[in-house]
Amino acid sequence: MKTLKLLNYAADQWVAGDGGLAPVHSAVTGEVIAETGSGGLDFAAMLDHARRVGGPALRRMTFHERAHVLKALANAVMARKEELYELSYATGATRGDGWIDIEGGAGTLFSFSSKGRRELPNGKVLIDGAMEPLSKGGTFAGQHVYTPLQGVAVYINAFNFPVWGMLEKLGPTLLAGMPAIVKPASATGYLTEACVRIMIEAGVLPPGTLQLIMGATGDLMDHLTCQDVVSFTGSAATAMKLQSHPVIAQESVRFVSERDSLNASILGPDAGPGTPEFDLFVKEVAREMTVKAGQKCTAIRRAMAPAGHLDAVQAALSERLAKVRIGDPREEGVQMGALASRGQLEDVRAKVAELAQSARIVSGDPDTSPVPGNGAFIAPILLRSDDPWGSDAVHDVEAFGPVSTLMPYRDLGDAIALANRGMGSLALSLFTFDSDTARDFVLGAGAYHGRMVILDRTSAKESTGHGSPLPVLVHGGPGRAGGGEEMGGMRGVKHYMQRTALQGSPEVLSKIIGQWLPGADKPAGDVHPFRKRISELEIGTTLKTASRTVTLADIEHFAHFTGDTFYAHMDDEAAKASPIFGGRVAHGYLILSFAAGLFVDPDPGPVLANTGLETLRFMTPLYPGDSMRVELTVKSKSIRDEEKGEVRWAVEVFNQKDEIVATYELITMNQP
Ligand code: NDP
Repeated sequence: MKTLKLLNYAADQWVAGDGGLAPVHSAVTGEVIAETGSGGLDFAAMLDHARRVGGPALRRMTFHERAHVLKALANAVMARKEELYELSYATGATRGDGWIDIEGGAGTLFSFSSKGRRELPNGKVLIDGAMEPLSKGGTFAGQHVYTPLQGVAVYINAFNFPVWGMLEKLGPTLLAGMPAIVKPASATGYLTEACVRIMIEAGVLPPGTLQLIMGATGDLMDHLTCQDVVSFTGSAATAMKLQSHPVIAQESVRFVSERDSLNASILGPDAGPGTPEFDLFVKEVAREMTVKAGQKCTAIRRAMAPAGHLDAVQAALSERLAKVRIGDPREEGVQMGALASRGQLEDVRAKVAELAQSARIVSGDPDTSPVPGNGAFIAPILLRSDDPWGSDAVHDVEAFGPVSTLMPYRDLGDAIALANRGMGSLALSLFTFDSDTARDFVLGAGAYHGRMVILDRTSAKESTGHGSPLPVLVHGGPGRAGGGEEMGGMRGVKHYMQRTALQGSPEVLSKIIGQWLPGADKPAGDVHPFRKRISELEIGTTLKTASRTVTLADIEHFAHFTGDTFYAHMDDEAAKASPIFGGRVAHGYLILSFAAGLFVDPDPGPVLANTGLETLRFMTPLYPGDSMRVELTVKSKSIRDEEKGEVRWAVEVFNQKDEIVATYELITMNQP
């Protein structure tokens, strides 16, 4: 393989770093495969370019338009994934490891794209919660909204997931409407560089939205402002160095940090040898130790079992680990490749030596390479600590490789305390078939762990496992884990936006957010709103129907027709005795049906189907002889594709005294 000259991507140009380039070695053979460096880059100019060119371009787009960009990027990565796999082997990753990184990364973009189109409006403002009425007369109200930050998201990423590590941050960032500058770890940055190249060549990113630094970040931190976000993944030492940069404190720069984590997995007190949970636990600990050669921020570092079962766990785990085939990740049948670099190998050996001062190695030899040559190979190392409260190292020292420490616990309280002794983790797993144990564990340990997976015989087969962060769930953890939070579906998007509490009249607020709010104007339309396509419908347009009287005969007919003969509708005496009704009342569903009868325009047209109804509330009973009328208001609209979209209608049903009988939100599928 000829030596790759890695390039930076600054202000929409590929540029070589000048000055001394650093060699990058293959994890498998030790040979130099690339040269990398960022010398000569003007970091202030890169930030400026993103702020002046990239940010405004993204903010001109709607959430849905940005979501389409994510999908196009994911498709581009998938179309050229083999180029990435080819490079991925040199990081020591097997095809399976590479799949997590490459296809897992593309999958994360797909997920953010589809969630963005389903859950965000096809607009530019993200609404946070319901309007808060602030005045008696209804003319003054509050509404929380999110708008995109006007700076740059700077990613400083770890070596272990060169593709996924970038894409899991890029999905929410671009969806929010913010440009990004990526700085991958030097050891595996060549894979990130190739992925950035694929995305740029796809031609779907507006200029200035993505830049790449292939080396040191120079004075970049000096130029950050309150509109920027630093998202860091790596060691606690680097996190602290960056986080304590004076500009971060002075400018209140958002700093999302994901760093060391001594993740725990616990065999429940009920899960002795012979139970399915015991076998599942052994399998999962072994898997977590060997996938990506244990270089996962979520990997299991501490495996805990009831004291009486520890020997059985050790025997089963050791047997499994001894069978793991280690070698060149390209070779068929190899289950575990190399660490990312010789430097990482030395680091893991040093950390194992530290752990071995208060725990003993019961499986694997850290000092002998299981594969001849200069690759960064190490066998899985299982340690055992019989006195976990007497060893700080087993809870504090993260050996970032295929290394885990087995430890006993006395009872559930002790297991909870030991799990929490890690002082904050990204992921925890509990193997139990007892839901009381699971509930007690979550109550005792939830505050210390970002994600908790409870596995048993019913869920294990379909489970995504202990170590997989998912785009729809939050990834991050308190304390030692960095205190950051990423992804989590639309939660992750908000890290790149500012929440603002708006106050004003419902009419003004409604215009700002692009949604009708109670109290805003309700202009009448020129024709029935069901005759209009989404593009022709105006927010706030209201249809006011004629009224109809609801008779006792209607109620009785409905009761017998549907079988709903609840006392409040049919039993005079009981209804009179009811403190709520004081007499027979119309069924809520009868009111809904009559409401539809009042507002529906029947002929085929732009309204294709009624797809649902939300936030239904019955406010005032409707008595026989009362009349009802409906106001149907266009609340919001969103075009999905060329064939359809969604309209939400605010529906209010009034009685003859203009009291609100029922309110709800009706959802229809319409032609665009
Ligand atoms: P580092 O913290 O050294 O590096 C992480 C990133 O920070 C890299 O991109 C690195 O760049 C960059 N970096 C380092 N120093 C600076 C600086 N002064 N200014 C700007 N950027 C900087 O972690 P490593 O990747 O080397 O991993 C070391 C250890 O961190 C692992 O052994 C493991 O214990 C832990 N780790 C934890 C992870 C987690 O998610 N929990 C993930 C990965 C690692 P460069 O590579 O160019 O130095």
